[in-house]
Amino acid sequence: MGQDQTDWIDCSRGVKQGCVLSPALFAIYMTDLGHRLSRTEGIKLGEASIPALFFADDMVLTAETEDGLKTQLELLRDFVTERRLEINFQKTKIMKMGKNCNEEKTWILTDSQGKEVGRIEETNVYEYLGIKLGRSRTFQQHMANKLKQIPRKVGLLKVKARNTPSRKRAGNALWMQAVKPALLYGAEVVPFSKAWIKKIERTQNKVARWILGVGKSTPASGLRAELGWRTVENEVNEKKIAYWERLTRLPDVRWTKQALMEILKGEYVCEWYSQVLRARGKIAAIATEGTTTGNWKNKLKQQWRKKENSEWKQEKERNHLLKAHPKESIYDTEDYVWIDTQYSRTLTKLRLGDYGDKWGPEKGKCKPCGKEGIADMREHILLDCDKTDRERQIGEVGKTIDECNRLQLTRQDTLTELLAGTSKDHRKDLAKVVTTWEDSNKEQESETA
Ligand SMILES: [Zn+2]
Repeated sequence: MGQDQTDWIDCSRGVKQGCVLSPALFAIYMTDLGHRLSRTEGIKLGEASIPALFFADDMVLTAETEDGLKTQLELLRDFVTERRLEINFQKTKIMKMGKNCNEEKTWILTDSQGKEVGRIEETNVYEYLGIKLGRSRTFQQHMANKLKQIPRKVGLLKVKARNTPSRKRAGNALWMQAVKPALLYGAEVVPFSKAWIKKIERTQNKVARWILGVGKSTPASGLRAELGWRTVENEVNEKKIAYWERLTRLPDVRWTKQALMEILKGEYVCEWYSQVLRARGKIAAIATEGTTTGNWKNKLKQQWRKKENSEWKQEKERNHLLKAHPKESIYDTEDYVWIDTQYSRTLTKLRLGDYGDKWGPEKGKCKPCGKEGIADMREHILLDCDKTDRERQIGEVGKTIDECNRLQLTRQDTLTELLAGTSKDHRKDLAKVVTTWEDSNKEQESETA
């Protein structure tokens, strides 16, 4: 403690919370349990029999019959007694799956003399590695839970982003790095229904409108183009396909690969597989068997880029509001977007047809002030437009322009300075906003609980 050293502390049981060595020590301590369980009857998967799944300190025993599970539990009981460990009966649950398992009972675990050691409740929902599995309609619970969190998460995003010097950048970072990944967690394996994807898509559009400060009538594809975002649907499909590609390249001995081969044999209906097939149908076939790891990933990425850029092109042709939009590829985001002033809002509105569809680089008319024959609308809005005149007098923008004038910078350099905005100093804050998201998210969760 501080400069002083404490005496040695005896630790004869358990591992230190949060220590990097703990998982390895725990695994070594538990290995023998795995060996013993492997001699019991697990669930059948192709050639393999799986008696248990271990992940960090989480353990699932799997059996096809009640007697099978009983044998495993007794084996676990003996192991635990031998090693001076304890079963946490509060956290231990049994879930039956399949036909005729609608009744839930309580299991009583006894020692070899028949004395009760503890009781285990049966349940119809079990959370495994952060995904709630239900007995029937397996993933329904998981998604219902996710969707329930949406309003609270979006509300928190707005509050957190507003409290930073760069609301737009912070909002963008929080959505991309914290909120959306949490909503799409498990998308590789969980069959997301069309309705769920739509709901998340609508949420994404809402967040985009809030960041850009534009109205409800702005086309969603335009919002994504301005921010360099993709559709949720495409992202989910990409995750599914990438996971599929990874699975097909696994050696046959791996359980996940065995599961895949069972599905391919067509033994049972699998919603996940039909979704993978549909997703694969949306982009050109990728995999030539045996391609190296890096290769197929790049190939996949290129195919998505091609697909999404051509989708954007089609949108521009289809939607008269977007016809004149200067952007060719949805993947690059223009710097102007991140300026936290009326400037960028006016520009975004112009670009997305909020002032009507007459403006375009070739037509060169500024709707807000009415001036015609403008070559570069960005330059006009930032340096010349009457309607944004006030912007040029006040706050950080005013200071930047004054400073540029004092240094006698060219118009082009002044423009560059303005586009860089005030964000330079704020990037560090930004990283902090994202890294503290989980904490504030949990805080709020416990407050509402
Ligand atoms: Zn103007």
